[in-house]
Amino acid sequence: MIRHLLAKPLIIMMLLLFTTTTLGQSEVPPDDPNIIIHIVQRGENLFRIALNYGLTTEQVAQANNITDPGNIFVGQRLIIPFNELAIVQQPPETHIVQPGETLQRIADLYGLTIDTLIQLNGIENPNRIYVGQVLQISGEAVEPDFIETIHIVQSGESLSGIARQYGVALADIQQVNDIVNPSRIYVGQQLIIPGIHPTNTTAAELPDFVTSLNLRPLSFVEGQTGLIRLTTQTPANVTSSFLNRSQVVISQENNTVHLMFIPIPIFTEAGIYPIEITLTSSTGEIAQISFNIQVVSGGYGSQYITLPEDKVPLLAPGVEQNEMAILTTVTSSFTNERYYQGTMSLPAAAAMNAPYGTRRSYNGGAFDHYHNGADFAGAPGTPVYAAAPGQVVLADTLNIRGISVVIDHGWGVYTNYSHMAERYVNIGDFVQTGQPIGAVGNTGRATGAHLHWELWVNGIPVDPMQWVWQTFP
Ligand SMILES: [Zn+2]
Repeated sequence: MIRHLLAKPLIIMMLLLFTTTTLGQSEVPPDDPNIIIHIVQRGENLFRIALNYGLTTEQVAQANNITDPGNIFVGQRLIIPFNELAIVQQPPETHIVQPGETLQRIADLYGLTIDTLIQLNGIENPNRIYVGQVLQISGEAVEPDFIETIHIVQSGESLSGIARQYGVALADIQQVNDIVNPSRIYVGQQLIIPGIHPTNTTAAELPDFVTSLNLRPLSFVEGQTGLIRLTTQTPANVTSSFLNRSQVVISQENNTVHLMFIPIPIFTEAGIYPIEITLTSSTGEIAQISFNIQVVSGGYGSQYITLPEDKVPLLAPGVEQNEMAILTTVTSSFTNERYYQGTMSLPAAAAMNAPYGTRRSYNGGAFDHYHNGADFAGAPGTPVYAAAPGQVVLADTLNIRGISVVIDHGWGVYTNYSHMAERYVNIGDFVQTGQPIGAVGNTGRATGAHLHWELWVNGIPVDPMQWVWQTFP
């Protein structure tokens, strides 16, 4: 929260400085790069000209032997003192935190001290920098908030969750706030979040045999799929853990290219989460990489749905959990072969009328459901197409989803097609992109004919439309 508030003045300041630079550069004569001559234009005065170059009126006056700053004329050629210009006009440089970087490493890169970096960016906790964070590496210092951070407890928050969010130890928060029993906090309670000093910086640097580590995007989004690509100089065995679960690592090219498709479950709270990656080289050398990834909210909307009386029993939690368990089991299996290439095709020639992620309230109840797929408003009987090549691993009639088909595309990626009127494929069939696998219908817990389309990655349903626009890897 505090970081967010501080970011705005920085951006405005940078914009101002960039504007200044552009104005200055437009006046540089092409023949002599060491002298800037400004030709006075109608309506200009010395104060304004000096301001444009980030100089004072006195500096420009002195360079041009002007005794009366009010006495300049249109067309007059003014020498702009270049050295001062270079110093004053440099916009603040920024650095985007890359995976595996520590504050120390970034400080070294720019010849700064950790303390300078902390001051420039108002960093409260050096252990909480995250990949994709934009750090200012020059310019004016921002007041750090070492002990001043106050967190107001929100509904649904736990003390351990708050500790994780700020990257501080639970015991430290308890001690500072005199909390004996961590389960006894209340909504609206003001907590002091203790600062951590830079000597505690523990994040690991990249081991020597790691040649690259990339994230796409740099911050992951709730309900979307994140991609991590890691390359090693020599073959390595890689395991990874993020969001309290072990992540699937796909190792290619003689175990030197390692890919992770990371599904971010819906309802994952926005925050900073550590990822742990363990590499074992062919010589038995073990290295650990640990860095923070920011997860941002998906910003999904909410929707009221009215179910007819006869379908209300399908809202029972047990029915829903059973069906999720079936799909989770089917889609958690990993097929080494990748059947798909490029992006997913759309599953029907129909408009998408309900996106993934929407929070749902059924018949006036709580918003504790969410839409785990995308809906296509096809008329009954409209053909449903396979979005990519793969093998049919489920072809069944489910309670909620009705007539459904799940296709395994390999590498932990599955698509599911539901509420169909009929299906044309069976378990074990191999299908191609665009092959009709069924027809749009109204079976299961549907409120009208439509196709409900899901995409699962390593057992988690994510936004399928991301896969229509973006390739993995
Ligand atoms: Zn749907």
